[in-house]
Amino acid sequence: MNELGSRGVGIRCAGVVHLYRTFEGHDVVALQGVDLEIKAGERVAFLGPSGSGKSTLLTLLGGIQRPSAGRIFLGDDEISRMSERRLARLRSRRVSTMLQGATRNLLPHTTARLNLKFARLGMDAADRDHAMPETELLSRVGLEGQADQKVHTMSGGQRQRLALACALATSPQLLLADEPTSQLSHGDRDHVVGLIHELGEDLGTTVVVVTHQAEVATSFARTVTMKGGRVGSEGRNGSEYAVIGNEGVIHLPAHMVAEWSPGTLVRIEQEQRRIVVSHPGDEQVVAHPHPDAT
Ligand code: ADP
Ligand code: MG
Repeated sequence: MNELGSRGVGIRCAGVVHLYRTFEGHDVVALQGVDLEIKAGERVAFLGPSGSGKSTLLTLLGGIQRPSAGRIFLGDDEISRMSERRLARLRSRRVSTMLQGATRNLLPHTTARLNLKFARLGMDAADRDHAMPETELLSRVGLEGQADQKVHTMSGGQRQRLALACALATSPQLLLADEPTSQLSHGDRDHVVGLIHELGEDLGTTVVVVTHQAEVATSFARTVTMKGGRVGSEGRNGSEYAVIGNEGVIHLPAHMVAEWSPGTLVRIEQEQRRIVVSHPGDEQVVAHPHPDAT
């Protein structure tokens, strides 16, 4: 635990499945078996095409919805089995979710300072006394001059920085942000991303950010790319890696599988300094250079 009394929490997802029931009564499979571990205090970016399940996974981690099947743990607590009441407590004290679009997270006709006060309403008085004072929090996000300004008169970048301050006002163990920079100019985007890293580091908060922006993704040492409701691949310091699932199922990066139809059999072998991918009965062997080859 650090001086501000905040501490990140580890996340573990095992076989997480999520279905949505449409008005017509059909089931849409949004997540089909997500296995994922994120360490306490780690900062991770979720990437992947539209519809791949990023937002759904974020709402499950934030306790906004419960998964249809599978288990999700925050630390030792299994949130996939928590009662509505305990989930509500979790959301007001331990996990902050920034929904897509800054205004959805703010009260537009009140001031920046009042938004911060509202964000803290669900906290215990003792925790509130230990949390960072409002003036300091506003100054950390560069809004010291906006304390008494109404949200609807602020710029997009200012609103998103205020939304971040509100999300962190409760000293959460986990910060979740869905596309927090998608509507911003490059300057505002870099400012917000910089603050997420800086404040996340200082507070020790575990952070998950959904983004489709390469400039944002590269600022994270770890990326998780969703594909078709599963973890498709993971990036570590800019290199992409395939993910071996439970029971030895392997999920390969999209560019490798683009030409293969579902059910295609492949064999993957390491031959000295390269990875060789071959198909049964295939005369032609496709060779991809090994990532470490020089
Ligand atoms: P992403 O954030 O990666 O774009 P989502 O998690 O929003 O993906 O969506 C995953 C899948 O679930 C998509 O097929 C989407 O159409 C579907 N979906 C998301 N929300 C709902 C909903 N409320 N009702 C029905 N289907 C939904
Ligand atoms: Mg989304």
